[in-house]
Amino acid sequence: MGSKPYEVIVVGGGPIGSVLSRRLAQHGLRVLLVERRSSFNPPFRCTGLISPRCLKLSGLAKEAVLREIRGGYIYAPNGYSIQVESNIPKLYVIDRPRFDKLLIERAADTGVDVWLGCKVVRLENNKVWVERHGSYTTVTGRLIVGADGANSKVASCAGFPPIHNVLIGLQTVVPYRPKKDDFVEIFLGRSIAPNFFAWIVPAEDGLARVGLATDRIGAGYHYLMNFLNTRNLQPQSIRSGLIPIETRRRFVQGNVLLIGDAAGQVKPTSGGGIYPGLMATKLATKVIVRYISERLSERYLTTYERWWRSTIGSELKRGSLLRKSLNLLDDNILNYILKVLDHPHILRLIADYGDVDYPSRVVQKLLQHPAVWLQSLPFR
Ligand SMILES: Cc1cc2nc3c(=O)[nH]c(=O)nc-3n(C[C@H](O)[C@H](O)[C@H](O)COP(=O)(O)OP(=O)(O)OC[C@H]3O[C@@H](n4cnc5c(N)ncnc54)[C@H](O)[C@@H]3O)c2cc1C
Repeated sequence: MGSKPYEVIVVGGGPIGSVLSRRLAQHGLRVLLVERRSSFNPPFRCTGLISPRCLKLSGLAKEAVLREIRGGYIYAPNGYSIQVESNIPKLYVIDRPRFDKLLIERAADTGVDVWLGCKVVRLENNKVWVERHGSYTTVTGRLIVGADGANSKVASCAGFPPIHNVLIGLQTVVPYRPKKDDFVEIFLGRSIAPNFFAWIVPAEDGLARVGLATDRIGAGYHYLMNFLNTRNLQPQSIRSGLIPIETRRRFVQGNVLLIGDAAGQVKPTSGGGIYPGLMATKLATKVIVRYISERLSERYLTTYERWWRSTIGSELKRGSLLRKSLNLLDDNILNYILKVLDHPHILRLIADYGDVDYPSRVVQKLLQHPAVWLQSLPFR
């Protein structure tokens, strides 16, 4: 470690911090990436379900892909289920620790200085305090990026407005034989996971990732245990984490910029943050490169925020409306809706247009085809 000044210091070597660092270094910027973890081992508090489009954005090939997913069973609260099936892989299940490790290695290979096992504990103007094994060092950077996740230390040190709308996500790994190796299972219902859902995702052979998210932060563990016990599933260790489902009011303050979960860039429909965070790295890179190389004022950094809100941010806004609408439905209505959806034409539309990164597209398609709905209504 040294005290060499950097152009950009990125705090947090999750997927978003690593990819942003790599992109900046590819433009010739002098970048430091500081990551609290010193090793990358399972179990991990992420299901690792990402779209092929998201994998491509990460810059990795299929090195960390464990499985391809073609479809899913969606269960109503009363146990009734629908099956959505596509001919092509819609999702990948990734090995998240390996994914993170590979992305950090790629950043280092591109010329990023990487400090592992180092925790940022304080910021002041351009200075960052880093703690490692009880000793402290400082390092300076023209721009500080908080890519340090939902509990962002950078955001709290720099005085960003807090995110109020968060879920608790809990997950474990269980021995499991799925009905189909390339199908996920989604479980809806207030008694299962209030205001979100539970999932079973096949992962390594003979194992599945079982988890749920809910806005009942204090009761998440109880709901997960209940879900596991009623299915006679034996959990290994349980990991949990916060999922922000509301974007932060600001992403930029002075010379500090937030990205990924730290900025609340997460899909409110599924809780997935890897795709929107990676999209943000593309926008942030353009802005940061100009800010540094043309020595522009800090005000210019807010361009990143504007670009974000007018692109992927608007899909997240639609997702937020969708999530709020879904949360209004009680179990009886959910039972009814799944029954209505269980019609070959509707299931085909969902399979063809369902897109985990852009969920509003399938809703739009369904609304454009009222005839399909009418065919499936029980009182037609
Ligand atoms: C149970 C669960 C399941 C999920 N499943 C999915 C899924 O299937 N698909 C999906 O897209 N998303 C999923 N998510 C969300 C996903 O995990 C996050 O959106 C994603 O990890 C965000 O990436 P990030 O790089 O912004 O933050 P993180 O991955 O949280 O990375 C932040 C990094 O910062 C480091 N850090 C934190 N504080 C400091 C500090 N002070 N100093 C230095 N380093 C620090 C951390 O060690 C960490 O490595 C899930 C979340 C949960 C809780």
